Amino acid sequence: MSVECDRIQGINLAQGVCDTELPAPVVEAAIAAIHNGKNIYTRLDGIPQLRAAIAQKLAHYNRLSCDPDTGILVTAGATGAFFAACMALLNPGDEVVLFEPYYGYHRNTLTSLRLTPVTVLLDAPTWELDEDRLKQAITAETRAIVINTPCNPSGKVFTRKELEAIAKLAQQHDLFVITDEIYEYFLCDNAEHISMASLPGMAEQTITMSGFSKTFSITGWRLGYLAADPRWIPSIGYFHDLTYVCAPAPLQHGAAAGLMDLHDDFYRDLAKEYQQKRDQLVEALVAAGMPPSVPDGAYYILADASRIPGATAKEKARNVLARCGVAAVAGSAFFTEGRGENLLRFCYAKKAAPLAEACQRLRSLNG
Ligand code: PLP
Repeated sequence: MSVECDRIQGINLAQGVCDTELPAPVVEAAIAAIHNGKNIYTRLDGIPQLRAAIAQKLAHYNRLSCDPDTGILVTAGATGAFFAACMALLNPGDEVVLFEPYYGYHRNTLTSLRLTPVTVLLDAPTWELDEDRLKQAITAETRAIVINTPCNPSGKVFTRKELEAIAKLAQQHDLFVITDEIYEYFLCDNAEHISMASLPGMAEQTITMSGFSKTFSITGWRLGYLAADPRWIPSIGYFHDLTYVCAPAPLQHGAAAGLMDLHDDFYRDLAKEYQQKRDQLVEALVAAGMPPSVPDGAYYILADASRIPGATAKEKARNVLARCGVAAVAGSAFFTEGRGENLLRFCYAKKAAPLAEACQRLRSLNG
């Protein structure tokens, strides 16, 4: 969709590229690091300043206590973190529970490593956890549960009650919980981000992943991290080293400066800005005849495209692009076969002007 959108010079609300402004301290520290010769390999788990800053942030925001020297691995994005964690902790044939709708990279990473994703369906519009479905999905082969909160594409933010239910099952069956918390600061209304590892007894079996792509608008820098019990870090670090050696050296200095120099008000403003963008796009989708499921977090909206012509979600996405020049992702990309064919996912991580133009064009669909 992105390629076709570029070809017709449309507005891309498909991919979550996040082309918004970068925070100044992040940019300046990265540029200074390049000029100051910080361009060589780093320790495989990242520069000490960044690990220390991550540990501080985890204590402050996520209520996690992590030793920066033994419990944190700086990675090539959350993507690199997930790949290395799966390589290190799981074996081919292991079953891994994934909530559906899911982020495609999670599913595809699992299958590429010959792991077996077992999906547990969450239903629109609330995407509430159905504990019975989760219980039924767990077998003798299950080794891990993946949680993405806030979630791409549904915008679901897992509640404490839901996390407690998952934790109980993970403890009963001795499962890893691998959490992708990359949208942890993108929260709307009264949604609260809770890290699974902060729940009683869950720190040892939880791998907490996050990154800077979204919060600092640096998706192309490839910088993320994971926090885990020191038992797991050496083997995860080993596989991350084999694949990436280390995360980009000067850019690690940029992220460290961002964590150290930006405070609660930065994250509050970010959430506020994105909530306004969410409301703007929700209104436009309603006006376009595509009623959305209103997200509590992240920066995507799944909208009901039943009224858009097309037999599949892909056809519907092509139809919307052709008619108004706005690209969306086919909902089927986030579901197992046969589901999501009436859904389109729109991303609102855009600068104000293109988002306003996209909203206007979407409204014209109903004209
Ligand atoms: N996890 C989720 C849920 C995402 O939506 C994305 C990007 O869209 C990523 C991870 C990618 O993160 P990173 O750029 O840190 O690899």
